[in-house]
Amino acid sequence: MNILVLNCGSSSVKFQLIETDIDLIEKNADKRLAGGVLERVIGQAIISVQVEGQSKIKSAEPLRDHRAGIDWILKWITSPESKIKNIKSLNDIHAVGHRVVHGGERFTMSALINDDVIREIEDSIELAPLHNPANLKGIQGARELLGPKIPQVAVFDTSFHSTMPETSYLYAIPYQLYRRHKIRRYGFHGTSHRYVSYRYRNLVGKKLEETNIVTVHLGNGCSACAIKNGESFDTSMGFTPLEGLVMGTRGGDIDPSVIEFIRNKEGMTVREIDTMLNKQSGLLGLSGLTNDMRDLVDEEKENNDRRAHLAIEIFVQRVKKYIGAYLAEMGGADAIIFTGGIGENSSIIRERICRGLDWFGLNIDKEKNDTMVCGKEGEISNPKSKLKAFVIPTNEELLIARDTVRTVKNVPRRW
Ligand code: ADP
Repeated sequence: MNILVLNCGSSSVKFQLIETDIDLIEKNADKRLAGGVLERVIGQAIISVQVEGQSKIKSAEPLRDHRAGIDWILKWITSPESKIKNIKSLNDIHAVGHRVVHGGERFTMSALINDDVIREIEDSIELAPLHNPANLKGIQGARELLGPKIPQVAVFDTSFHSTMPETSYLYAIPYQLYRRHKIRRYGFHGTSHRYVSYRYRNLVGKKLEETNIVTVHLGNGCSACAIKNGESFDTSMGFTPLEGLVMGTRGGDIDPSVIEFIRNKEGMTVREIDTMLNKQSGLLGLSGLTNDMRDLVDEEKENNDRRAHLAIEIFVQRVKKYIGAYLAEMGGADAIIFTGGIGENSSIIRERICRGLDWFGLNIDKEKNDTMVCGKEGEISNPKSKLKAFVIPTNEELLIARDTVRTVKNVPRRW
């Protein structure tokens, strides 16, 4: 089946066209046919696309909204100009998989989209006011443009974490607040943690039930996940993606009293403080320079910049803290998995995170670590290391495409 994967953000639409099916999933032989990004979909959109790994066009197009963006994608995919193998018309697109950020407590698995599912995603808007409305616009747009005959599936960032026990997901605040408003930890990046855990099992030949690992997704957003017996046991993001690790622009863990204090001292509204914690904190806030780890590493090395160094050190220490906490919570683990832009590409940051963890039985092989970049997948610990470390590039779009096929064909999944 040819699956169109859509990831609609507040101002962007990312897409991939993936050929996959039950037998192709078994053989790990799915194929990415095309992909692209439409940035600033409301206004003069910047569009870049690739077919079979080759960059094709980069252009600016006036677009009105997400629907217009999806319309552009469908027209381009089916045009002779795109030259995508076996795609001649809309009939060659067999299903659509949507990334949906928040599935609340309702969606513990990916779901075939119908009116009820849309209503329930709408109900979760108050839990994810920045993300779910854009995801819904994508769903509505694709439904209008492709008609009801093309099945659509929602794949949620939160679903993988639905196995967390109460001891991991409840905040120690009055219990009624959980009962009345569902205030709890949900966790995000679930598709990524789930995908790399599946790849790890494939690499080392472990059964799902025997998979005990800590996965660390370090990108612009960052989160760690304790995976016990193959299931999410704990994760660092919480009620929203703001909790936990230091990220590009999000601060992660903070004493909530700071909010009232800033409100009084700086005369900011709670909403402004929320924006500050989401958009002006993390690596950007600490360094005063950038949210981009690559640039910070360069600044630290070339200019000896004190604040860049400080931002990196705090980032690294927070990751260490969560790894240590999860190893304690799980009673140990077999491996730590690095993924996300930083986790996949920055051997220096990985090395700094793993430094001093020999106490846990982790020993990194410097040469393997230095070469495991740019999409490479494999072990970076030395053979004697009791706790292993791996780099596994994430592929959320592939997992969305696979879940779409399985949901449409009603084939149960266990990972
Ligand atoms: P997103 O969460 O938006 O998908 P990515 O997973 O692409 O983001 O991660 C982006 C981050 O990865 C940026 O901070 C970028 O600097 C960092 N990154 C990418 N390559 C490297 C590298 N070689 N060294 C250090 N950081 C890198």
